[in-house]
Amino acid sequence: MAAAMVDVEAMMKELRVTYASGKTRSYEWRVTQLKAILKICEHHEHEIVQALKVDISKPELESFVHEISLLKEACKFTLKQLKRWMAPEKVKTSITVFPSSAEIVPEPLGVVLVISAWNYPFLLSLDPVIGAIAAGNAVVLKPSEVSPATSAVLAKLVGEYMDTTAVKVIEGAVPETTALLEQRWDKIFYTGNGKVGRIVLAAAAKHLTPVALELGGKSPTVVDSDTNLKVTARRIIAGKWGCNNGQACISPDYIITTADFAPKLIDVLKYELEKFYGKEPLKSPDLSRIVNSNHFNRLKQLLDDDKVSGKIVFGGQSDLPNLKIAPTILLDVPEDSLIMKEEIFGPLIPILTVDNIKDGISFINSREKPLAAYLFTNDKSLKEEFIRNVSAGGLVINDTALHLAVPTLPFGGVGESGIGAYHGKFSFDAFSHKKAVLNRSFLGDVGARYPPYTPFKLRLL
Ligand code: NAD
Repeated sequence: MAAAMVDVEAMMKELRVTYASGKTRSYEWRVTQLKAILKICEHHEHEIVQALKVDISKPELESFVHEISLLKEACKFTLKQLKRWMAPEKVKTSITVFPSSAEIVPEPLGVVLVISAWNYPFLLSLDPVIGAIAAGNAVVLKPSEVSPATSAVLAKLVGEYMDTTAVKVIEGAVPETTALLEQRWDKIFYTGNGKVGRIVLAAAAKHLTPVALELGGKSPTVVDSDTNLKVTARRIIAGKWGCNNGQACISPDYIITTADFAPKLIDVLKYELEKFYGKEPLKSPDLSRIVNSNHFNRLKQLLDDDKVSGKIVFGGQSDLPNLKIAPTILLDVPEDSLIMKEEIFGPLIPILTVDNIKDGISFINSREKPLAAYLFTNDKSLKEEFIRNVSAGGLVINDTALHLAVPTLPFGGVGESGIGAYHGKFSFDAFSHKKAVLNRSFLGDVGARYPPYTPFKLRLL
C-alpha cells in the first residue's frame, strides 16, 4: 500500500497497540512469522524471479542464488538459533555487589522502520525484517520505488502470509518515505546511498531514534603479482559483473596492482570476460541491465569525462534503448577523474597502478572507508599487513563479496560506508536492547555506604 493512501498516524497507533499487547514478544509468534517468510520464498520463487527480471533484468541464477537462497538461509539460521539468542545471558558480578546475580536480558525495541534499496530489492527488504521479527518487534517495510515490480510483490506476499497487525509494507517514493520518517520509531534501518542516509539520520535525531545505515562506497581490490591469476580474474568478475552487472554495494569498484603486473591481469580478465559473456556482451542474458536511464546517463558521464578519454582498454560499448553497458576496464585513470571520486555502481572498473603493491594500502587509507576491501595474494605478510592496516566494513582475502554469505560475520560499513551491522546474531542484536539486570540479596547490607559519612567510614575506603 502507498503511504499516501494510508493514514500513517493511524497505522502507527495500530502498531503500537499490537506491540503493547505483547504478542510480538512470544517465541511462537516470531517463529510463525519467520516461517511465513520461508513460505513466501518457497511458494513464490517464480513470481519473485519474474519481478526481478522486470525491474533490472536480473539473470535467473543470480535472483535465485543472491536473493531467494540467501534469504532462506538467513531465515533457517535464525530459526535454529532463536531460542538461544532470546535467552538471558548470565554474567559474573563484582565483589562490590556481593551477594547478587546478574544477567543481560535482550528485549525488543518496539516499532521499527526498514527502508530498502533497489539493487537487491527482495533480499535487502526482508533480510532486515528477519532481524526485526526475530528480536520481537513490530515492523514497517518501505521497499524501493526504483524496483516497483519487486516492491509490489513484497506488498502482496507479506500481506498474504504475515501478521499484518504487526508487519506492514508501505510502498512509495520520497513523499511517502518522508511521511514515514516524521513518525517516532524505535529504530530505523536504512539501506541506500549516503546522501539519503544523512536525511534519515537527521529525521531520527529529532526523536533520538537509533539507526542502522547500510551505505556503499568505493570498494578497492588489490591484486598482488604473487597470485593465482586465473582464479583471481574469475573471482573479480563474479563479484563485479556477476553481481547485478556491478550494481552491488560490495562489488569491486576499482583495482590496484603493480605497473608490471597490470598487462597480465588485463589479458586474463579480457579472456575470462569473453568466455563468460561472449564477444557481444550487450546481448548476453547473463548481465543485468542498468536499472534506469538516470543511472545509465550517470555511468555514461563517468566514461565521457575528458580526464578518462583514451583510458578504456576493454569494453566501452553501450545500448541506450535497452539500458545495457558492457563490462568495461580502464587503465590508469587520473585520481581526480569523476570515476575515481564517486562510487561507480555499474559495469566499469578502473585499474590503478603502483610501483610497490604496499602503496595500494596507503592509497586505500587516504580515502573514505569503503564497505568492502579485497586482496588477492599468496604472500602471508602482505595478507597480515592488509588485515591490520585497511579499515573497511569487511575484508575478503582471495575472493570478492562472499563475506556477505557468512551469517557468523557482521555485515555493515564503517565511517562513510555506514553505521551498524546485521546478519545472523548481529541482526537480532541490531533490533534488540540489551537490558542489564542486577538481582541483589537482602543479605550483606553494608552500613558504610549510608550517611552520615563519618571520618571512620572514609578510612575504610
Ligand atoms: P534507492 O534509490 O532505492 O534509495 C534507497 C531508499 O531511500 C529507497 O527506499 C528510497 O525510497 C529512499 N529515498 C530516496 N530518496 C529519499 C529521500 N530524499 N528521503 C527519504 N527517502 C528517500 O537506492 P540507492 O540509494 O540508489 O542505492 C544505492 C546505494 O546504496 C549505493 O551507494 C549502494 O552502495 C548502497 N547499498 C548499500 C547496501 C548495503 O548493504 N550496505 C546494499 C545495497 C546498496
